Amino acid sequence: MRKVSVTVETAARTASAAVIVGIDGPSGTGKSSTSKAVAAKLGLRYLDTGAQYRAITWWMLSNGIDVNDPAAVADAAAKPAIVSGTDPAAPTISVDGADAAGPIRTAEVTAAVSAVSAVPEVRARLTALQRTIAAEAPHGIVVEGRDIGTTVLPDADLKIFLTASEAARAARRSGELGSRSAADIAATQAALAKRDAADSGRKTSPLAKAADAVEVDTTELTLEQVIECVVTLIEDKQGA
Ligand code: C5P
Repeated sequence: MRKVSVTVETAARTASAAVIVGIDGPSGTGKSSTSKAVAAKLGLRYLDTGAQYRAITWWMLSNGIDVNDPAAVADAAAKPAIVSGTDPAAPTISVDGADAAGPIRTAEVTAAVSAVSAVPEVRARLTALQRTIAAEAPHGIVVEGRDIGTTVLPDADLKIFLTASEAARAARRSGELGSRSAADIAATQAALAKRDAADSGRKTSPLAKAADAVEVDTTELTLEQVIECVVTLIEDKQGA
């Protein structure tokens, strides 16, 4: 009898301790670096939903689907098997059993991903997958994306919306791509602005700040400062 009640109490404590954090924002605001580091510090799982949209886009391109034909994309949306590994120290993404971490970062995928992710059948499928992964995370999870606070996890314990000036975002993204020349930064800024406009303007769950999200402008902050800020916000929630 005693043993049963201890087990039930432990299960209840584990369930109540699980914390769900959604981090949204446009490209180049430091979402991935921040989300991974915060999850690692707090012993949480980490999910990069952008990698899943990129993975499905890579599959469409590899299988000859016209990514600018929403009906063709919708018809194929259920076909690829997408699996995300959620260890923040070594996140993984695979498509039909093949490692997709490299191919999903190509310029070709980056240019096509907004069109594929605007298709409602693609969003419905990945949203369901993301909710399942979040529900199964033992101690909680940090989920990064564009619509986590508004659509995927509207009941998240904490919602963060990261922003930064266009110039800061372009400089950071160019640095990640290995270039700091003025021409490359200008080209990156134009590409980011185009992708953000497509992601913010689509009909189905566009990039948007949830009404109850905490906005953090990272323009003048170092990565360490942003991580510290988000960790403090989570700890405040947990202590509340
Ligand atoms: O985060 P990342 O830049 O890798 O995301 C790639 C693309 O995936 C975004 O530009 C957007 O089109 C799509 N995306 C989305 N919803 C999410 C995450 C990403 O539509 N939750």
